[in-house]
Amino acid sequence: MIIVRYGEIAIKRGKRREFEQKLAENIEKILKRKGISGKVKIVRGRILVNAPDYVASIIAKVPGVVSVSPAKELEYSEVPNYLKEVLKEYNPKSFKVETQRLDKTFLKTSIEINREIGAFIVKEFGWKVDLENPELIIGIEIIKGKAYVFLEKIKGVGGLPVGTQGKVVALLSGGIDSPVAAFLMLKRGAEVVALHFDQGTNAKAVVEKVVEILSEYSPDPIELIVENHFEVLKPYVQALTDIKRREWTCVICKIAMLKRAAEIAREIGALGIVTGDSLGQVASQTLSNLYFETVSINFPIYRPLIGFDKEEIVNIAKKIGTYEAFLEFPYCECPFRPERVVTMPGIQEFEEIKFELKRRNLL
Ligand code: ATP
Ligand code: MG
Repeated sequence: MIIVRYGEIAIKRGKRREFEQKLAENIEKILKRKGISGKVKIVRGRILVNAPDYVASIIAKVPGVVSVSPAKELEYSEVPNYLKEVLKEYNPKSFKVETQRLDKTFLKTSIEINREIGAFIVKEFGWKVDLENPELIIGIEIIKGKAYVFLEKIKGVGGLPVGTQGKVVALLSGGIDSPVAAFLMLKRGAEVVALHFDQGTNAKAVVEKVVEILSEYSPDPIELIVENHFEVLKPYVQALTDIKRREWTCVICKIAMLKRAAEIAREIGALGIVTGDSLGQVASQTLSNLYFETVSINFPIYRPLIGFDKEEIVNIAKKIGTYEAFLEFPYCECPFRPERVVTMPGIQEFEEIKFELKRRNLL
């Protein structure tokens, strides 16, 4: 049996049932996708999954899950004998028993259980009790009159169940940042559809791999939409060439991508676009460039990494497993990159370009 814990405190009143149901449904979907049969049951304050122990680490990746423990379901009277068997393999310097009683009608309190089982272990194994810093924690949860015993607590990703917050389109480049941005939106309960602008490099293969990894955090496999970057960009480059403003290509390129992303988002009923921008990280991510992008698109753009340092982003990428895929990322020079890139882009000049792009129905 696997005990699944979620952050009850974070749930608003009246939303709890919806949250629990969505979370249980998402866990069921992921197990089904992986061909694991396991009954998922909501009990007060916990979700119980009847599946083999190894499934715990799969469930830990489901957004909304705070922690999971593979546990043994017992009658309370069976706990001592069970512990006598399983604890044989352990020899900790110290231990403690930590009981949580979700069923307040149970005849013993948590403290009574801690003392009773703790005394039994001392008698049986002679181990030292340490309440402050024990080497081994023996967990017991009382749920609906049954005792669930466990020795391990695996940390979950936390957040909210995917599907409780609507849909977003996440722009994935094949770099380190954008998968982390998409993950953070999944973690906050948004359904993610991935969008990649293909430049004919193997960045596309990296993105495909990234989408597969991110799908571990999503109840349904994440859909990937691939657009031809050159096709999208061509009319914009033409416009800039005609008005002799080719140095603006990189700024306008981002706007072209966002414009197309907004069209797609509207088509599929998504409520926002997500990018991996982080303020000042590279020359293209200055406040003025982000300003140009934002005012050109009449659609919400979310940048969950805006205040993150590269190191923080890399750490998350490593933790969620997308960093590995990035290592295969190719370096390639963009064929549209102008010889001179605008360094101090002015608003006046930008307004003129915007006017021209609007005239050509490109904005
Ligand atoms: P990343 O590490 O995510 O590639 P970056 O630091 O390389 O980001 P940019 O190249 O300026 O930064 O891109 C900023 C954001 O624009 C990316 O995080 C991504 O969301 C989006 N983006 C860039 N190129 C593409 C692409 N070819 N397809 C889809 N989205 C892209
Ligand atoms: Mg990039």
